Amino acid sequence: MNLVLLGAPGSGKGTQAKMLASHYKIREISLGDILREEAKKKTPLGEVVSDYMKRGVLVPDEIIKDVIQSKLNSHGFVLDGFPRNLAQAKMLEDILKEKNLTLNKVIYFKVDEEKAVQRLSGRRVCKECGAVYHILNMPPKKEGICDRCGASLIIREDDKESTVRRRWQVFKEETASLIGYYLKKSNLLEIDANKSKEEVFLQITEALGYGEDKDSSGD
Ligand code: AMP
Repeated sequence: MNLVLLGAPGSGKGTQAKMLASHYKIREISLGDILREEAKKKTPLGEVVSDYMKRGVLVPDEIIKDVIQSKLNSHGFVLDGFPRNLAQAKMLEDILKEKNLTLNKVIYFKVDEEKAVQRLSGRRVCKECGAVYHILNMPPKKEGICDRCGASLIIREDDKESTVRRRWQVFKEETASLIGYYLKKSNLLEIDANKSKEEVFLQITEALGYGEDKDSSGD
């Protein structure tokens, strides 16, 4: 099972990527998480990408290409946050072809902008392990503290409202055209991402089949 998750900021694709990876026993590849980790460690790559990320704009394609090429190396993955424009979609096709891999489904998370902005304003992340919470929908047991590792929870720098609006603009201008692109290729699955995470998960697994991934060659 090889999946791509497509959706605006706050559509819940990061949460579903983790749930799907665990359910189908496939690898979650989140471009945003990978880049944030690099920025946190202040690696040469991290230094380059952190300014783009803080501003809520896309990191240039040439940089993304190297990162994705090194991560996509075997069957059984769920890609969160890539591709984000047409050039990256073509890049993905080339990489898959080169590595003899196929894409089964592109899942489009359709969400209302106001709902998404509301979700992101309540989002808190663990500064150590990256676990994600929401002050209303998924609060930690102890306020401000990660259930998993005990570290403090923080607000992502790009989750402040002005940056969220900018990220939405970037989605509309650069990423939304991929919906039509994958629709034409007949491998798009559109789901209603305004629903709760359990309902969204059900919509996806009902469409893909509940079973664990046993044969990655089929659809
Ligand atoms: P995300 O966690 O997916 O919302 O990504 C956070 C930020 O990382 C984005 O606002 C971009 O600055 C950068 N980023 C993540 N994925 C990509 C990508 N495929 N292409 C360019 N920039 C990306």
